Amino acid sequence: MKTIKGIQIAEPEVLRIIDMDMPELNEKNNVLVKIKAAGICGSDVGIYHGTNAAATYPRVIGHEMVGEVVETGPSAKKVKVGDRVIIDQVTSCGHCWACRHNRPNVCQHLAVRGVHIDGGYREYMAVPDTDCYILPDSLRYEDAVLIEPTTIAIQACSRAEISAEDEVLIMGVGALGTRMLSIAKLSGAKIIVADVVDEKLQEALDAGADHAINLLKENLDEKVKEYTTDAYGPTLSIDCACTKDSLGTLIRVTGNAGRVITMGFSVSPTEVTNFGITSKELDIRGSRLQNKKFQTAIDLILDGKLDLDHKISHTFHFLDAQKAFDFVDSRDPSIRKIVLTFDD
Ligand code: MN
Ligand code: ZN
Repeated sequence: MKTIKGIQIAEPEVLRIIDMDMPELNEKNNVLVKIKAAGICGSDVGIYHGTNAAATYPRVIGHEMVGEVVETGPSAKKVKVGDRVIIDQVTSCGHCWACRHNRPNVCQHLAVRGVHIDGGYREYMAVPDTDCYILPDSLRYEDAVLIEPTTIAIQACSRAEISAEDEVLIMGVGALGTRMLSIAKLSGAKIIVADVVDEKLQEALDAGADHAINLLKENLDEKVKEYTTDAYGPTLSIDCACTKDSLGTLIRVTGNAGRVITMGFSVSPTEVTNFGITSKELDIRGSRLQNKKFQTAIDLILDGKLDLDHKISHTFHFLDAQKAFDFVDSRDPSIRKIVLTFDD
């Protein structure tokens, strides 16, 4: 049988290149995709370091994967050979309470590609045609990887029920926060960003943020009052920093009747008080993965409302994944988004 190469996290801190069987099509997985690019996400780094509580090992990681359809089975309707596609990372059971209530992204038996089942850091994947979404022609594979974090942002803004009346605080403007900014802005809301890196804050301002706060140099509590109407504080806070303390911080600074969206996977305890939530009647809402948001993201690109071109900062060949993950660990300030490529 033909074998392919994949990048597996055998156990925390152990990354290896493995040989895998070439995937075969069947009734369910009726499309064979030759992977062309795959993003490195914070959660991939978390699985590598053993800090992602959801992950199981050994695991071929990668959940931001795009490629070309090279074979289809008889039941495949949605895509054809030659189509350029991005693959949905969520697989769900279809019959649990969450699935019956259109929340398959938090299915009781959720299996996420690259987390609970093998993902996209391999040369080929066999997946259902319904999990494939056709890429805009103009978008390069490397850039198309950013559709996935965009869907995460669309999900968070959907969970937040964002509107033009909101004054939003986005905590952290790294890869996720940057995507969040571009989606949140589409609502017409005022956007304040906070981070610890001046360059990232400047880029966020250039991308349309209304105000920027450097958490190392400025007092967050004072600044959000200064930047919001009647010193109310943000009506919506979205945690794109996902540190141990960020949830508690956002509960503190968010205005009365506001919403706080959490996206982190830290299992470290953080101090949250009843008073902090009850006295302001805050809604604390988790936002996990995304719920069928790929077509929404692609339509925004096709409509000219979203530009993903040339936003990635670095590429590595996927067989150099160790180098890429070491580079992530270097915390080099030039890092925005790193993509693995699969060119022969
Ligand atoms: Mn991701
Ligand atoms: Zn389910």
